[in-house]
Amino acid sequence: MTRSTILIVDDEISNIEIMNAVLEDDYEVCFSTSGQQALDTARAVSPDLILLDVLMPGMDGFEVCRQLKEDPNLADIPVIFTTGLGDTEDEMRGLALGAIDYVTKPIQPAILRARVGNHVELKRLRDQLASLAVTDALTGLSNRRQMERALEAETARLARTGDWLTVIMLDIDFFKQFNDTYGHLAGDRCIVMVGAALARAVKRASDLPARYGGEEFACILPNLDPQGAELIARDIRLHVQSLNIPHECSQISPFITVSIGVASARCHAGMSPDLWIKEADRQLYRSKQGGRDCISAIEFTAADTNLHA
Ligand code: GH3
Ligand code: MG
Ligand code: MG
Repeated sequence: MTRSTILIVDDEISNIEIMNAVLEDDYEVCFSTSGQQALDTARAVSPDLILLDVLMPGMDGFEVCRQLKEDPNLADIPVIFTTGLGDTEDEMRGLALGAIDYVTKPIQPAILRARVGNHVELKRLRDQLASLAVTDALTGLSNRRQMERALEAETARLARTGDWLTVIMLDIDFFKQFNDTYGHLAGDRCIVMVGAALARAVKRASDLPARYGGEEFACILPNLDPQGAELIARDIRLHVQSLNIPHECSQISPFITVSIGVASARCHAGMSPDLWIKEADRQLYRSKQGGRDCISAIEFTAADTNLHA
């Protein structure tokens, strides 16, 4: 397991030295001696926990905490305030600002070690839970909720530049028969393999393959125009084909095949993310109607979508 990173913020070097001596054996420790430096370091290293001095010249600990909690990328990092003994007001104010705990100075090594240990462990569990909530348990791909969230973020981002966005939907052909023939467990394994083939076919870091539900997958492909989308869709089909998963009851092939629907449009403000799903789904339906194991694609605009509404 990789070691957790702790950021110690204190304007007095001697305090940093004391805390570092307690923590350095168990954690990666980094330091800042001012509020502004603390914010910069937090952005740069994404620590798992911040030990934050209240009293500092310039930006004090309260202000640092406020700015941390305001930044969506930093807000989840637990903050423990370090306060002078008996500063009850400070402790209350810190907790009200979203700090998770406080330790009093002079530092007692055992207390510091225990509190940091507890909060780092809780943070690890929270992160694990957050990751489970967006992951499909069977395939390890993003789940539908995560895909919908990402689609919303991407349409908003790409609308600023009017760039292309493509959504691909695919569905395994005659999968009910596959389950009936080989059993539900084999069906599960097949879904896992098709998901992995999809993930291999889409390679850019910004591409998001997801399990949409059942034996249906979706893929968000930002900055991909219709020509590029066509190539990726063909690649997905080939990757699935090359799995060579026998399907003796399929009416179209001795092996597992997928039907694919592709929808591409330039993003504009006011276009609902649902449009891409609806259009890709419509194309998927066309592929099914057209005999399965094939690709149907559409390039649409905001104006076209009114026609179907
Ligand atoms: P089509 O070619 O028109 O897509 O036909 P199909 O049989 O694939 O589609 P249909 O929607 O009739 O059946 C989908 C099947 O997928 C039925 C369902 O039991 C199965 N299925 C859905 N989710 C899972 C899963 O997680 N594991 C397994 N093994 N089967 C699943
Ligand atoms: Mg199917
Ligand atoms: Mg289906």
